[in-house]
Amino acid sequence: MARAIKTATKSLNDYGRVAGEDAIEEIRALAAPFKGAEVLHINSTAYGGGVAEILYTIVPLMRDIGLAATWMVIEAPPAFFDFTKALHNALQGMAGQDLMLGLDTYLATNEREAACFSGSPDFVVVHDPQPAPLASHLRDRFGPKTKWIWRCHIDLSSPAEEAWDLIRPFVERYDAAIFTMSAYAKEGLRVPRLAMIPPSIDPLSPKNVEIPVGTAREIVAGYGLDPSRPIVVQVSRFDPWKDPLGVIDAYRMVKREIPGVQLALVGSMAADDPEGTAYYRMSVEHAAGDPDVHVLSNLNGVGNADVNAFQTAADVVVQKSIREGFGLTVSEGLWKARPVVAGNVGGIPLQVEDGKSGFLVSSVEECAERILYLLTNPEKSREMGLAGKEHVRRRFLSTRHLADYLTLFRALAQDGVSTARELAV
Ligand code: UDP
Repeated sequence: MARAIKTATKSLNDYGRVAGEDAIEEIRALAAPFKGAEVLHINSTAYGGGVAEILYTIVPLMRDIGLAATWMVIEAPPAFFDFTKALHNALQGMAGQDLMLGLDTYLATNEREAACFSGSPDFVVVHDPQPAPLASHLRDRFGPKTKWIWRCHIDLSSPAEEAWDLIRPFVERYDAAIFTMSAYAKEGLRVPRLAMIPPSIDPLSPKNVEIPVGTAREIVAGYGLDPSRPIVVQVSRFDPWKDPLGVIDAYRMVKREIPGVQLALVGSMAADDPEGTAYYRMSVEHAAGDPDVHVLSNLNGVGNADVNAFQTAADVVVQKSIREGFGLTVSEGLWKARPVVAGNVGGIPLQVEDGKSGFLVSSVEECAERILYLLTNPEKSREMGLAGKEHVRRRFLSTRHLADYLTLFRALAQDGVSTARELAV
């Protein structure tokens, strides 16, 4: 049974001091026509990964500005997630995924979960491929008033053909599709409206609220790191696309020059990510007992405030992705005024301005070289961190995200051509 997720109360006014009062006023003006409008978000996990992270902020903020926003998570058995993981990989272009195994479960689960929904919301935002078939089941039941939006958080630019053939008929039942950036939209996708909306971080959440560096260092010391020595941090799921093994290799190269350097790999195990546990073990094995490599996860009790502490305490934040949707951890690192060394893929170049707020890298060697540079040039690191923080303030906070949703709602509520703004990022 799909279940409603409860979220804390948030007040838009609190965001003025970090995002700027003009951003708050813009949101209030955009929200005015939507007082009382019902907005239903649906995804497949309440914990782990970027989507849930965003919904814990966007849903209560929508409520605070007068929309009747709710969030439902579909319930699904492990076979469903095995299938959707393969589908996710195939949609991002990975060949050789078995899309027959679990397909029945995927279709049957969506059909069964559809039975849990009723009413006639004004806007339904369905996140990612897992619940994508819901529009096909519910469109008629909800009626013509409901506008259906598919929010695709992944890169659909070059999917494996069979994956695209499978998902396309479901997606084309929507009134609009949102992609993180135009490069991720699938050419030829037939939906009436397309919007480009990058995700965002919540500057006031326990993960991103400012904490003193001293406090952050104390917290990481509790996990066994020595706060007086350099710290390199990557926060991400244990996943081949995030290349935790490559990060360990880069750390080893740095260690030859700076013996005191320490590495923390912090990664949560998302409920919809069965590969995570296996990749966690591989990372531990790859660390080969090095006491300066700390492979930590939510299973060690690392929560949001601790992730904040690791990012704040880091001398360099790394996100060495090989393929990436957006990479929220990059904005999170920059928001802590840390320089970020990150893979030159996906949404990362939107966030890291190469040479200004960190470095974009394409190999282990390059990653090591840039980390070494930053560790040996603290003044430059500081400058880059501050530049990154300002960039995130302007482009990647929840307030900008909220304004983009409202702009899309306005476009959908009007007849005629979309006015959803394409962000010039
Ligand atoms: N995250 C976390 N704890 C961890 C690892 C990751 O809270 O141990 C969070 C991370 O801070 C970020 C999100 O999970 O907010 C990951 O989002 P991102 O876009 O970087 O990657 P995704 O997992 O969605 O591919």
